[in-house]
Amino acid sequence: MKLVRFRKDNSCSYGLLEDEKVKVIYGDIFKDYQVTNCYYGITEIEVLTPCLPSKIVCIGLNYKAHAKETNMALPKEPLIFLKPTTAALAHKGSIIKPVMSDRVDYEAELGLVIGKPAKEIEPEAAYSYILGATCFNDVTARDLQNKDGQWTRAKSFDTFAPFGPCIATGLNYDNLSIELLLNGKIKQKSNTSDFIFNAGQIVSFISHVMQLNPGDVIATGTPSGIGALNSGDIVQVKIEGVGVLENYML
Ligand code: MG
Repeated sequence: MKLVRFRKDNSCSYGLLEDEKVKVIYGDIFKDYQVTNCYYGITEIEVLTPCLPSKIVCIGLNYKAHAKETNMALPKEPLIFLKPTTAALAHKGSIIKPVMSDRVDYEAELGLVIGKPAKEIEPEAAYSYILGATCFNDVTARDLQNKDGQWTRAKSFDTFAPFGPCIATGLNYDNLSIELLLNGKIKQKSNTSDFIFNAGQIVSFISHVMQLNPGDVIATGTPSGIGALNSGDIVQVKIEGVGVLENYML
């Protein structure tokens, strides 16, 4: 099942994406809802971010091949950081290059959307707290990340958290192919089976630090092959079973 959030005639709704149609959902996708028989064509609506998170939690190094490539030791526990919700950007939205950065990078990541409040849960139980998966691009001002030492500025600019286009349910989050395409050329290609920490371990770990709420988004780290975004680029994050998140670099 693919859930989308969209705007049509100045009102926002959830919908169920089926082929090129979006069936309007009545109610709250995190509680009770009904799929109606009313639908729009995908080209008739504006796709919004698929949820409105209270926070976006990101994981640092989380792919074994990427650790090997960068000669980094495998971390003993996940490294987490936050992006503000003001950085959220929808499918087809434009990433804005900050004046204070000379180097902005893409990072294709699997996003997990939390479905119900999660506090101090165990890894095996964590999967039942995940509503579904989305595509995430952890856009990063690499020069500022290196300069500052800590990551808040580099990761937090407005438009630096594109995610979408949908929340896809019923997937095995620990075995999904993930790719990043820059102007149609593959730049990152991996599978979440190369995760250092799997989805359950990640959600469990974070839930022992902060309560996760419905709609919160977790970005699970990027595989090897990161690189720069330049003005005019079209960047796509493609994840098996989810679809393609496409954004334009202004
Ligand atoms: Mg990242």
